[in-house]
Amino acid sequence: MADKRKFEQPGVDSNTVAELSKKLLEANAKLQEAELERKLMLENISHDLRAPLTAIRSAIDYIKSKEEGSGTSPEELGDMLRLIDNRAQTLEVLVQDLYYLTCIENGRDELKLQRVPIAQFLEEYFFAAQIDDRYAKRNLICEIPEDYDKEVQIDVGKMSRVLDNLFTNARKYSEEGADIELGVDTNSDSAVFYVRDTGIGIPEDAIEHIFDRTFRVSGARTPDGERSSGLGLSIVKSITAQHGGRIWCESTLGKGSCFYVELPTNA
Ligand code: ADP
Repeated sequence: MADKRKFEQPGVDSNTVAELSKKLLEANAKLQEAELERKLMLENISHDLRAPLTAIRSAIDYIKSKEEGSGTSPEELGDMLRLIDNRAQTLEVLVQDLYYLTCIENGRDELKLQRVPIAQFLEEYFFAAQIDDRYAKRNLICEIPEDYDKEVQIDVGKMSRVLDNLFTNARKYSEEGADIELGVDTNSDSAVFYVRDTGIGIPEDAIEHIFDRTFRVSGARTPDGERSSGLGLSIVKSITAQHGGRIWCESTLGKGSCFYVELPTNA
């Protein structure tokens, strides 16, 4: 006769149950945090979209109201067109950055990885920046030792976007003649590069928030002639995380900031 198997309830001790409940609670807290961040982002973005749209609407209404009377003078029309153009560019930057960020975060934008010596990648970026007019009034410095031979697996386009955003900020938040330095940390086992500036710096209590979506240092305004979505550093953080790396910032108000990007060398 075949053996009858007796069902035995697996023994679960109270420690395992407590551990599982703790993990569930932690996961729940994380979800709630992410949900709150998403809501805040939507609120901020709706606010940021509204301002340029209101300006564009007012300019159009003004031109239309004049059409019914004596019409707009060529000067007035020129002014209104410039205003519309300017605010439309602000909208474009915001929408493009938002699209880019959501694509990365939804995992729709896969990395096209290639193995490269990090020094070569950084130097090529630096040479391009040197001949870029936007940096003509900054003092660009490259601090990469000749024998720095670490290799990384990166999506060159995306990692260039990281450098673009860090360089753009270094320029945006500094005065003419400020230093912008690109270098590597030779004391680290992994590949660590940094972008350092001698700009306005960031208040200590704001540093932990600057990578949040749409966070701006309170009271800080976008410098004249610059466009800002408030998403630049979130994009940088997402791309770095996609590469299995991390980013952090050290800054002293009034002296300058340094952004470090760490990438695994064995990926
Ligand atoms: P933004 O489009 O506003 O520049 P970012 O996400 O790139 O958005 O940066 C967030 C905020 O962090 C900026 O608004 C600015 O206050 C601060 N910040 C970023 N980079 C620097 C820097 N190099 N120096 C000083 N402040 C900076």
